[in-house]
Formats: sequence, C-alpha cells, structure tokens
Amino acid sequence: MLGSGSSVGSPVVGRDYENVKEKNWRTRSSVYISIDNKDILIDTGPDFRYQAIKNGIKNIDFVLYTHSHADHTHGIDDLRIYSYIRKDRINCFGNEYTLKEIKQNFSYIFDLKNISGKPRLNMKIINGEFVEQKIHVIPLPIIHKDWNVLGYRIDNFAYITDCSAIPEETINKMQNLDLLILDALRFSQHDAHLSVEEAVELSKKIKAKRTVLTHMGSDLDYYDLFDTLPKGIEPGYDGLLIEL
Ligand SMILES: [Zn+2]
Ligand SMILES: [Zn+2]
Repeated sequence: MLGSGSSVGSPVVGRDYENVKEKNWRTRSSVYISIDNKDILIDTGPDFRYQAIKNGIKNIDFVLYTHSHADHTHGIDDLRIYSYIRKDRINCFGNEYTLKEIKQNFSYIFDLKNISGKPRLNMKIINGEFVEQKIHVIPLPIIHKDWNVLGYRIDNFAYITDCSAIPEETINKMQNLDLLILDALRFSQHDAHLSVEEAVELSKKIKAKRTVLTHMGSDLDYYDLFDTLPKGIEPGYDGLLIEL
C-alpha cells in the first residue's frame, strides 16, 4: 500500500500537525502489486514519486487507473523514468472517460509535436475483463458520486478506492477474496465516498477474508480504528506490505 490517504492527504496542509502519530501520516491512495514477475501500479497520485522512492519501486509493467481525479493522476509525469528504464511505452488502462480526461489534463504528454522529456505511455480503454502481460485483470465498475469509475480485481485481491456505492453486479465479481482494500473516508457520511460504517457493512456483505481500509481522512486515527473495527477489518497505512 503506497498511500492510504484522502484527496488532501493526512495531515492536511495549513493545520497544526505536531502531534500526528506515525501511521496517521498518509499520502494519497495508491497500491503496487507484484504478481508472477509483473509489477502493476494502481493510480499515479501527486505523491507517486515519493512513494516510489520510499518503497524502492524499480519497475512498472503497467498502470491501472481508477479515475481521473487529481489525487489519483497528478503524479503521472513521474512515469517518465519508468518508461525510460523499460525502453518502451508503458500501457495505462482506464475506462473511456478516465482516459479522455487524463489526455485532456496532461495534453503535453500526448502531443506528438512535443518530444521533450515526458512519459511514454499507451492509453488503453478497458472494455470488460482483459489479460495484460499474462495477468488477468477484472475491472470492477463502481459509483463515485455521479461518476462511473473502476476498482480492480487481480486473482484473490480487489482494490476499491473512491466509491459511494457498489452495484450488485460488481459485488458478484468480488466473491472469494483473500484481500479487499476498500474506501473509508471518515465517520460521517459523504456523497462521493464510503463512511467507515458503510465500508464495514460492505465488507461483511462481500465476505473477503481480510479487509483493509484506505483513502482515509485526517480525522481517522489508525490506532483507534485498529482497536475498534470488527475482526477481519483493519485500517491501512502507508507502506503496509501484504503477501498473499
Ligand atoms: Zn480520491
Ligand atoms: Zn475521486
């Protein structure tokens, strides 16, 4: 888990953060998955460069985008070095709207006339399940307020950030999970995100063996949550490493 924080991270800039405990320091949400000798990154938030250095990320085989909000995309330029290391373009996947927005927001990357230092990317629209470099990826359509965005399932792991509701059809694709990483912004309700209570309810419904909460706002305390969440559900933190 590279980052476990909400869109503004934790602590929030401009506030008093002298007494913030270690696991409440959260960069913007992202995960890095290594499976069958392939390295997959989900989202490139504004903290991506720092996360990559802190976690010793040497390679990225492909990128999955959940959606185009700033906290999930604004580190895209730091894919530059990874495309250089690979001596090839990096395939980046997302739904049609997400890729359209990314191309619009970072138009210099896709401007063929501009060949100065920039990441070399292939943007690939997702239309259902797909296999990339022998890895089977199942997109999980979810609702993020008035957006249709994506979570992802790879093998027995699913990642759902930025989510206000999960359609039944998607729940059906989330059976027999060993690990679910799930949005939980804060205790009170929010129209674009799951609250802690809603995340717990969904986790019980999905019945993953282990659920880890992410995209947590700065008022959520890791240590309190760890002590109070039901068995099988825990708060995530930056740098959390899970082997399946
Ligand atoms: Zn977000
Ligand atoms: Zn979002």
